[in-house]
Amino acid sequence: MKIELIKDDITKIEADAIVNAANSSLLGGGGVDGAIHRNGGKQILEECIEIRNKQGKCKTGEAVVTTAGNLPAKYVIHTVGPVWNGDEEKGTKLLANCYKNSLELAESLDVKTIAFPNISTGVYQFPKELAAKIAINEVKKFKSEILEKVIFVCFDEENEEIYRNLLEK
Ligand code: ADP
Repeated sequence: MKIELIKDDITKIEADAIVNAANSSLLGGGGVDGAIHRNGGKQILEECIEIRNKQGKCKTGEAVVTTAGNLPAKYVIHTVGPVWNGDEEKGTKLLANCYKNSLELAESLDVKTIAFPNISTGVYQFPKELAAKIAINEVKKFKSEILEKVIFVCFDEENEEIYRNLLEK
């Protein structure tokens, strides 16, 4: 599995799946979530509402899938990152689950390329360096016969630099 790093807006990425750092309501929010719903159109929200009606809120660390609406991707995988509260052990586990569950869901959909944003490092205030280590570790651990490429999409320079340093090691 190839790992790529880019600095971009994830809604522009042509991957089979892009991942959304959603909140548990699944009904949209700010940051990357806002951008995905804004640029992807109302079909994404409609499917999120359907999922909510069926299974209720999405728990932290879990992932669900919808179409990508008007975006170039095929699917949006919505995962709910943990809000940083200083509990490193619990936060690490929950954030790792976001990556693992998203990768498993992607694999079940026969996804070849998947793009991740820096989950939880915005409004949810997870320390960026720790979040990047967890993300890279989970992706490297995930052995897949189906997935060919994982793209880490950084939106800010700080995250891009952290990822570049960690990936060069
Ligand atoms: P969370 O609530 O999980 O912290 P945010 O959306 O607030 O989610 O932030 C997660 C990360 O997504 C941050 O690093 C932020 O810079 C980044 N981000 C915001 N908008 C976009 C976008 N359009 N494409 C990719 N990443 C984005």
